[in-house]
Amino acid sequence: MNVSEIIKNKYNKTVSECSDEEIYYALLQEVQRLAGEKSRPETKKKLYYFSAEFLIGKLLSNNLINLGIYDEVKKQLAENGKDICKIEETENEPSLGNGGLGRLAACFLDSIATLGLNGAGVGLTYHFGLFRQVFKDNRQTAVPDKWLTDKSWLIKTDKTYTVNFKKCSVTARMYDINVTGYESTTNKLHLFDIETVDESIVENGIGFNKDDIEKNLTLFLYPDDSDDAGRMLRIYQQYLMVSAGAQFLLDECIAKGCKLYDLFDYAIIQINDTHPTMIIPELIRLLVERGLEMDDAIEAVCRSCAYTNHTILAEALEKWSVDYLKKVVPQLIPIIEVLDDKVRRKFDSPEVYIIDKDERVHMANIDIHYSISVNGVASLHTDILKNVELKKFYDIYPEKFNNKTNGITFRRWLLYANPQLAELISSLIGNGFKKNAAELEKLLQFKGNTDVLNKLLDVKLQKKRELKAHLLEKQNIEINENSIFDIQVKRLHEYKRQQLNVLFIINKYLDIKRGKKPTTPITVIFGAKAAPAYVIAQDIIHLILCLSELINSDPEVSPYLKVVMTENYNVTEAEKLIPACDISEQISLASKEASGTGNMKFMLNGAVTLGTEDGANVEIHELVGDENIYIFGDKSGEVVQRYQRGDYNPRRYYEENGAVKQAVDFIISPELTNIGDRKRLERLFNELINKDWFMTFPDFDRYAAAREKAYADYENRLQWADKMLVNIAKAGYFSSDRTIEEYNGDIWKL
Ligand SMILES: *Cc1c(COP(=O)(O)O)cnc(C)c1O
Repeated sequence: MNVSEIIKNKYNKTVSECSDEEIYYALLQEVQRLAGEKSRPETKKKLYYFSAEFLIGKLLSNNLINLGIYDEVKKQLAENGKDICKIEETENEPSLGNGGLGRLAACFLDSIATLGLNGAGVGLTYHFGLFRQVFKDNRQTAVPDKWLTDKSWLIKTDKTYTVNFKKCSVTARMYDINVTGYESTTNKLHLFDIETVDESIVENGIGFNKDDIEKNLTLFLYPDDSDDAGRMLRIYQQYLMVSAGAQFLLDECIAKGCKLYDLFDYAIIQINDTHPTMIIPELIRLLVERGLEMDDAIEAVCRSCAYTNHTILAEALEKWSVDYLKKVVPQLIPIIEVLDDKVRRKFDSPEVYIIDKDERVHMANIDIHYSISVNGVASLHTDILKNVELKKFYDIYPEKFNNKTNGITFRRWLLYANPQLAELISSLIGNGFKKNAAELEKLLQFKGNTDVLNKLLDVKLQKKRELKAHLLEKQNIEINENSIFDIQVKRLHEYKRQQLNVLFIINKYLDIKRGKKPTTPITVIFGAKAAPAYVIAQDIIHLILCLSELINSDPEVSPYLKVVMTENYNVTEAEKLIPACDISEQISLASKEASGTGNMKFMLNGAVTLGTEDGANVEIHELVGDENIYIFGDKSGEVVQRYQRGDYNPRRYYEENGAVKQAVDFIISPELTNIGDRKRLERLFNELINKDWFMTFPDFDRYAAAREKAYADYENRLQWADKMLVNIAKAGYFSSDRTIEEYNGDIWKL
């Protein structure tokens, strides 16, 4: 690619005369052209990956890397006095996802394209995405994230579909984003939108009239569902996605010769969590409308669908009341009733019915009965599905259940986010790991090699300096690059237990006040958005921000301990934080985190995990061994039993454990209530001592001990670097290329 020539043709200027925005847009258009040239021919069978979220991150650099031209473009820009990082800063991150599930979908698209598989993503264009998080008075406020401009990666297509709701019909238009594979072909992410959406109805942060469907349908991802109108809006969104997506995929299949009853020969539909579940009754409806008998339609659809479960938290398994569905999509009710009736004729356990006695439709139950595959996302999670949460279903359909341990794309999370580390690895073991992540194991030969270990520490220090500069510029916070970077970044949820981390920090602060100083200073970094209607999560953010103010402004403590919360944690932020991390906090209550993928990104970048035996931490532990991870806390079996017994009494721990009591009492101490909102802090205090639903107290002592052990071990820099090396070397298993090969081999069979 000749950047000067492209710029000259487009603007009739030289590169150095252009603004970063102009260069960005010219590169975007050129990348679109190159990606288009690599489009694949349609093959008979195709994967349709349906997901409410695709947290794809910025695309310019990722596409340049995948097209194999990143280095040359960077060099040409530099020769003209331009910095590719600055140009990239002008790109908005698409706000099309919320957390791990959406990021997983994005990593999968990358791997599907890289492996040359014929697959497309299907979802929605949310104009303001998830909200943008802004801190004000030590609180989270939510404002619209205006990421979508006319200079975005979306390409308007001429494909439109009518989607009928009870009270209106809308025209869904398809927009495409090119998904480039690494030195491979290009796939597409199809995102539907409606043209009547009106961005101007949003006011007071992220408020809007929830009833005006034609104006609000694709404004936000996960609109607040704490009232009827909000819940109904979610159903509208889900149906828009699946109805437009179903019409599109049927058109494609028919064009290739599909006769409908053989749909499964042409299409495999992966249902990412329950949000796209209505694809099943909708496809059945469309096949019947086009002439198939009901039973044949059910059979054809069932053989085309596969379902991924992402959570065992009961509140996250969607149940929609029949009443709502009747008000929004009455055409699906007769189909869902037939599906339920068939289940009732065959099985007597009400747990497996689709419509329950309270007239609610259990979306996951539709997926499990009417698909060929049900998978969990880490081996522990799949075991819990089989033996506990979905045991009744596993007894009926043992052959449907399978595990697909999550993965991450190494193109973004190593080659792009940490080029210095990638280069060091290349210099040691060659370039093969870029295509075959398992080759990272070759690094093990450098265990104990002082020269290599020092280079590894140098790279880490450089990434810490970069993060320091970033935080100074972004939030005017100064951190010490020679401190331990102890990081917990992920959505804010009680089960992920940011509050456990906070309790430790409080005691550390009090220790320092009493003169017990850490050998190496510690910087604790948080990043997390909380759902606006999730009150306790907002309270935890408030506590972190108040604590950060208290500690960072205390001259006695801040040389030894700092607490930072980065604003608006997203993919761009993750790319800067993760490579700089020393200790990766993965401290969810065992059995609650289905997999986690943050844990994999940190490991790949040489952070050592401090975590519970939960999700994929279990597999990380098995791979790296006891020496190279800090595991603590109750195991999932014990946790499950404690819930079943129902005898957990947090107040007893609070009264009997001095360390717990000291930390929890501090939440309502004058030091904090002078800074923060007493009502919020008291509510959190009471929640912990009376409920502590995710059982932080029983794990507290073991958590503190494991964390202190990690801090002590950090002092021996070369031994620590050995742990880093083993983590990187063993991370190959968590490449999403491996995950996708398993999906394809076991389920999709493309
Ligand atoms: C990877 C990632 C997540 C998922 O993190 P977990 O720790 O697995 O919950 C969430 N948000 C962003 C921006 C990510 O990149």
